Amino acid sequence: MPLEIVTIPCLKDNYAFLAHDRTSGQTAVVDVPEAAPIAAALRTRGWRLSHVLLTHHHWDHVEGLAALLADHPATVIGAAADAHRLPPLDVQVAEGDRILIGSDEGVVIDVPGHTVGHVAFHFPASAVLFTADSLMAMGCGRLFEGTPAQMYASLAKLAALPPETLVCSGHEYTASNAKFAATIEPGNAALISRIENIETARAQGRPTVPSLLSTERATNPFLRADSPEIQANLGLTGADPVDVFTEVRRRKDSL
Ligand code: ZN
Ligand code: FE
Repeated sequence: MPLEIVTIPCLKDNYAFLAHDRTSGQTAVVDVPEAAPIAAALRTRGWRLSHVLLTHHHWDHVEGLAALLADHPATVIGAAADAHRLPPLDVQVAEGDRILIGSDEGVVIDVPGHTVGHVAFHFPASAVLFTADSLMAMGCGRLFEGTPAQMYASLAKLAALPPETLVCSGHEYTASNAKFAATIEPGNAALISRIENIETARAQGRPTVPSLLSTERATNPFLRADSPEIQANLGLTGADPVDVFTEVRRRKDSL
């Protein structure tokens, strides 16, 4: 049975996620921006926390961990590469390692770029992918530590997963990402209709995360370095996709 996913708004614009296995009763939380909303989401459903999956070391993804663990002891899993600057880890993981939530197997994917030790967690049987600040809804994380080539390679790995994969990313940045996307690919009909959906959702106070990987492939400019329209609008027709990606990221950063 697929994991049951719950999206939990935290802080100003962060998301944490619960992933619950009905058979075993095990429940993981992905990232801990703050403890209270996560504890409340567990309490409401009567779920017991069993695992914490950390995507990267930034404070807005780990700040609530100690407070959450105080009342909800759980196995904390994070990247071995960043063990020195993550909260204390019970299990250190790297690319290709497997983790189990109940009987549902997750695969660790190394996705450097936003930070060098950033990891994503993919649960193929549930078709769910936790990306935090790597692949985001219509965007990607800023390159605080990695190079554009590293982030491009990270996003390429994620984009190659099955299109029906649900992408659970770390922030509600979609409206501003959409505004930017429309400036570089205004002729993309899928993008224009997605922007309408996003505006409606935000006007009603609904999250725009998670999203489908197929939707990201069709509308996320950071996955579309091969789009002739984007290449033409950037003056980079026929250029290396890494160079196109680098220019898309540079323009978004300079807004
Ligand atoms: Zn971050
Ligand atoms: Fe973040």
